[in-house]
Amino acid sequence: MDLNPPAAIAASAPWAILTEVKPIARDTRLYSLKLDSPLPFAAGQFVNLTIPGASPRPERSYSIWSDPLEPSRLEFAIKLFPGGQASEYLRDVPIGTRIKLAGPYGRFGLREPEPDDGVIWMLATSTGLAPFHSMLSVAARRGDPRRFRLLFGCRDVGDVFATDLLDALGGQLDFQYTVCLSQPATDQPAPAFDLRTGRLTAFLPELVAADRYYLCGNGAMIAEARDHFKAAGADRKRIHFEKYW
Ligand SMILES: Cc1cc2nc3c(=O)[nH]c(=O)nc-3n(C[C@H](O)[C@H](O)[C@H](O)COP(=O)(O)OP(=O)(O)OC[C@H]3O[C@@H](n4cnc5c(N)ncnc54)[C@H](O)[C@@H]3O)c2cc1C
Repeated sequence: MDLNPPAAIAASAPWAILTEVKPIARDTRLYSLKLDSPLPFAAGQFVNLTIPGASPRPERSYSIWSDPLEPSRLEFAIKLFPGGQASEYLRDVPIGTRIKLAGPYGRFGLREPEPDDGVIWMLATSTGLAPFHSMLSVAARRGDPRRFRLLFGCRDVGDVFATDLLDALGGQLDFQYTVCLSQPATDQPAPAFDLRTGRLTAFLPELVAADRYYLCGNGAMIAEARDHFKAAGADRKRIHFEKYW
């Protein structure tokens, strides 16, 4: 396979080289890309990767998992779906492959602290955790004093990932997380993290006017959570979301 782009395109578009792929959950992997030149971005943003052969849509969006401190080396937590065009390409893509990027895009970032800030709620399903990992990494680095609470929705324990990193963030920030399993398997050992059985939306917090709500991942979760907060009278400007599908 020819892993190198035509020279004319390489000169005008951002390209990166795949340097590492690490399995982090049953169908989820952490992909590391080294960019030809730095791509400054804000935590919470995403890029579009061009997937060779994907048609009619050649690009797929991926939130940047890593800290913007390293704009030349980006990480992505990607869940692979059987039969998905990007998923099937990314399943076997060799280390050393050159990949075309576009971006960064999006405005799904943490708003600046305000004097009466309440809790920063982060609601993620599956790889919807990615932008929050980037945001929390920045917050930890800056010593952000706000209270961060994460609800992390997964199907079962085999889908859960990065709890070691979340635990480490808990030592650096006022941060706690709860994993919500929608279809827990009975034969899996009890994990060490705070666990609830049920869909994430069964554990939505009560609305508090000073709190902010960031939602990312599954569109059905986002719609349900937004309805919940809106019905309670939420200020729409305090609800932020990034819908994956
Ligand atoms: C702004 C944005 C950021 C995104 N960031 C990420 C990311 O960081 N990590 C990531 O894995 N995906 C992310 N996605 C989804 C990603 O762009 C692709 O849709 C996904 O990789 C599937 O592509 P595919 O070609 O393999 O399958 P497709 O044929 O496009 O989709 C296959 C099926 O998977 C569903 N689906 C897509 N993504 C997910 C998901 N993450 N979890 C569960 N079901 C899903 C789709 O509804 C569809 O039914 C993001 C999407 C958007 C719009």
